[in-house]
Amino acid sequence: MFDLLDHYRVNELHVRDDAATGLKSFIAIHNTRFGPALGGCRFISYTSPDDALLDALRLARGMSYKAVLAGVPQGGGKSVIMKPKGQFDAEAIFRSFGRFVDDLGGRYITAIDSGTTAKEMDWISKETRHVTSTSSEDNPSNYTARGVFEGLKAAVRHKLGQDRLNGIRVAVQGIGNVGYQLCHLLHEAGASLIVSDINQEAIKRAHQDFGATVVSVDEIYSVECDVFAPCGLGSIINDQTLSLLKCAVVAGSANNQLKHHEHGQWLHDEGILYSPDYVINAGGLVYASLHHLGKPQHLIEEKTKRIAHTLSEIFKQSEQKDLATSVIADQLAEQRLYQKLSEAA
Ligand code: NAD
Repeated sequence: MFDLLDHYRVNELHVRDDAATGLKSFIAIHNTRFGPALGGCRFISYTSPDDALLDALRLARGMSYKAVLAGVPQGGGKSVIMKPKGQFDAEAIFRSFGRFVDDLGGRYITAIDSGTTAKEMDWISKETRHVTSTSSEDNPSNYTARGVFEGLKAAVRHKLGQDRLNGIRVAVQGIGNVGYQLCHLLHEAGASLIVSDINQEAIKRAHQDFGATVVSVDEIYSVECDVFAPCGLGSIINDQTLSLLKCAVVAGSANNQLKHHEHGQWLHDEGILYSPDYVINAGGLVYASLHHLGKPQHLIEEKTKRIAHTLSEIFKQSEQKDLATSVIADQLAEQRLYQKLSEAA
């Protein structure tokens, strides 16, 4: 157990097993150097408590990296609730989880993640104020999409030397919350769209609203385009898909786009500019953090646009050092997280 915590450099792990409601949950707090840990609450079926624990530790570290590069005053944390088999009282489980969060006194702030929505956050908010993404707030996906749009523009500028998206061909995989908003922004900016989704309604809507060309879920990897924007699943850059790509840039919202670390280096070696996922998709976190702190809207928008600046810095360093952008992003995040205070001064 402590080896695992050491491996992920997670500072705190909290466990709650509430027999009265069936809540079985872990909260992992990776790092609180720059503020309380903020990160989503997953509610999915896990094969074992070990799986759930590993997910929490891995994701908590990712949130620290995301927060530090987004420049928000938060640390990284994540919570998982093991979805019970059979019948359960969801409200009772989430209210029990809310009390669990509250017991940590604000060192962990929760949010939406896989398997949770504003409804679950509303239940949690009956027990604690350390919660974001309730139904009274904006949909964070819109901010995620805005951040991806700004980041995608920075990548096109860097790789193709073009400031405008007019005529740029973007292949968007997954037209859900983020993907649809991204298509909207790209369409307004004059980009031409190629889309795929397993959901027929979603692609129909993208075709009707934006004149997007529809391709199958397999074809999306190999379409001729300038930008491939993964906004659906993780692990989509892998041994099978790498050789299919015919794009100059990869820039999308999906988490954990690289199946393995080496795939980042492969993209670099092939001359495809990869926008590290946790940097480009930080808009939702920026909104959740700054809104929770009561900051004004213009600051939220400015910080979201700063994502482009951070990415440009990563692209430059990647070129100078001949290292993958994914490696540069990790290095930058780790430097900021672990740099001694005396060095930072
Ligand atoms: P979503 O569930 O609303 O949308 C995902 C879409 O992908 C759905 O329309 C789904 O049908 C589609 N999809 C699933 N499998 C597919 C396949 N094989 N091929 C093509 N499409 C497929 O999710 P979302 O909130 O839009 O998030 C999209 C991605 O961005 C996820 O990876 C998520 O983790 C990540 N992300 C989202 C946010 C946010 O604010 N929502 C923030 C950071 C990261």
